[in-house]
Amino acid sequence: MTTARATFDKLLAAAHEWYMALPAMQEFADWPDDLTWAGRPPVPQSVIAHLTKDPGTANDTSRSLRDALLATAPFAEWRLTYTEDEVGCDFLKRFGWFELAGPTGHFHSQQIRMTVGYWGPGLDYGRHQHEPEELYTIVSGAGEFRLDGAETLTLGPGGTRFHPSEQPHALSTSDKPLLVFVLWRGDGLAADPRMTA
Ligand code: ZN
Repeated sequence: MTTARATFDKLLAAAHEWYMALPAMQEFADWPDDLTWAGRPPVPQSVIAHLTKDPGTANDTSRSLRDALLATAPFAEWRLTYTEDEVGCDFLKRFGWFELAGPTGHFHSQQIRMTVGYWGPGLDYGRHQHEPEELYTIVSGAGEFRLDGAETLTLGPGGTRFHPSEQPHALSTSDKPLLVFVLWRGDGLAADPRMTA
């Protein structure tokens, strides 16, 4: 078994423990029963250094998931999705996400998409949207979550936020970084989010 595979197996186990600890996740979706190892190649980005240096404070429940994510970071297929015109150069240096499980994830699933995202302190992720419904869960650090038609929430470890289909939402960090574990369900799982026009 490769080191990458062993680290991802540990991460998947930590993610399942996280799922079992958060009722909001269990209500959002069943744990997938179609997971298979996809063996995707690593795509390093500068976000790895920022995440490693400043992963943000976890709580007792989220610490094992945060540490499993840190161990996996060098082997993950990091994505940036947006252009410098859309989000700016600093954002692209200190942001990144990867797909743990899903149609194009390290583990393949057609039932759900599980992604991990990181933002360094002082970043603003503007209004964006996507077809699948979404549940954010905060693993470490903190962020302010804005959703059209709903109250703005500042969330730390263990906090959750639901985003309906195609409902524009945004987030920002202030003095802390933000590490999140995100679930998608419904149609359009393989598409990327897009900035709201
Ligand atoms: Zn979203």
